[in-house]
Amino acid sequence: MQYISTRGAAPVLPFAETMLTGLARDGGLYVPETVPVLTPAEIAALEGASYEEAAFRVMQPFVAESFSETELREAIRRAYQGFGHPARAPLVQLAPGHHLLELFHGPTLAFKDFAMQLIGQLFQIALAREGRRITIVGATSGDTGSAAIEAFRGLPNVDVFILYPHGRVSEVQRRQMTTPDEANVHALAISGTFDDAQARLKDLFNDHDFRDGVGLAGVNSINWARVLAQVVYYFTAAVSLGAPHRAVSFTVPTGNFGDIFAGSIARRMGLPIDRLVVATNQNDILDRALRTGEYSVGRVEPSMSPSMDIQVSSNFERALFAAYGGDGRAVAQLMEELKSGAFTISQGALDQLRDEFASGRVSEAETLATIARVRAQTGQVVCPHTAVGIEVADRNRVPGTPMITLATAHPAKFPDAVEQAIGIRPALPPHMARLGELPERVTRVENDSAALKSLILERRTA
Ligand SMILES: *Cc1c(COP(=O)(O)O)cnc(C)c1O
Repeated sequence: MQYISTRGAAPVLPFAETMLTGLARDGGLYVPETVPVLTPAEIAALEGASYEEAAFRVMQPFVAESFSETELREAIRRAYQGFGHPARAPLVQLAPGHHLLELFHGPTLAFKDFAMQLIGQLFQIALAREGRRITIVGATSGDTGSAAIEAFRGLPNVDVFILYPHGRVSEVQRRQMTTPDEANVHALAISGTFDDAQARLKDLFNDHDFRDGVGLAGVNSINWARVLAQVVYYFTAAVSLGAPHRAVSFTVPTGNFGDIFAGSIARRMGLPIDRLVVATNQNDILDRALRTGEYSVGRVEPSMSPSMDIQVSSNFERALFAAYGGDGRAVAQLMEELKSGAFTISQGALDQLRDEFASGRVSEAETLATIARVRAQTGQVVCPHTAVGIEVADRNRVPGTPMITLATAHPAKFPDAVEQAIGIRPALPPHMARLGELPERVTRVENDSAALKSLILERRTA
């Protein structure tokens, strides 16, 4: 299978190359040329399989040209062996017909571990095979960075630089990035917001000399391999509630649109998903775009669900590409307009997007109220991102169709918000209890691409 750019002007690449590159050379995102379909019998056969076996069967058709069956199975086995739950992504019932998909049992307690742990393993195999070394640079609103550092710390042939917005990540998130002491790990605190960090990252990728010189690789959620790894848990969750014989719905706390786009791929692969609901906090560009057809960038307002505090939602470009019928020139045109802050989605594309996605927005007060309500009704303590999802899910439930809300992080990752809601500070799991005592290592950088480039050149370990 080959991968093409959403802007139609970059080389067509096989899976391993899209994974090692991240962003396409024309500024677009890679998508598979065609989406393989699993038959109802193949989907039904996932019932009772281990998470690892399901992951193999769902991902194999996408990667077959780049990784052998043995390589893929071994990468999957290693990726998930450190998870703190044998089901990897367990489903718990919240209310009749409403379930939580717990995606926080990985080493950094957020769903990002599902993809990052796997691509750490796949990078290893690909780099060793080609005798190559690379420099990973990532921008994070908190969880991607910690997951990337955890996945790549100490691995040969790789440096990992993570840019996070100074002062805008939680203490646990920051410490997960600043305490690993391996020489190939570099935590960088940039002045500005996550959108600034993401914009600087794009500058680095668009400087082709720099990009080739350091072997730049991106592991942000624009990396297709990450989206692919996230498709798996839509299958395992839906099958455990009766798919393919019965349709289910999903609500996804959304920021960069990577996680929910994985759900859209699962649907295109034949999984019967009724509603796919985008849940946003007060940074609601996606909800506004789906309601009004105007994709208009506002100011980022810091919230208690910081991993969704973004106004430019990178993976939405993939959904636009599909909604515009695979017309890369149309997408490139929209992205050109976005440089001035906004574009209007054509009526045809908007109808298509509304067919595929519902949406809702949750205020800060509603987030707190939901954490408290869930605790009172079920005894469960949920993180603020998950609370945003639960509230929007409740507004979008249809009798007879199970709703699955993605629980994207462990509540202990966001203890301040949880304490504000219910007066209890959730404890970190035992393996992370010492995080607060370890020494931190971080470099402050200005919101400036040239400064960033020199720093990377100077700090690389090879
Ligand atoms: C990254 C993240 C999100 C948003 O996911 P996207 O794929 O960017 O839409 C939501 N919740 C948590 C806890 C996250 O870490």
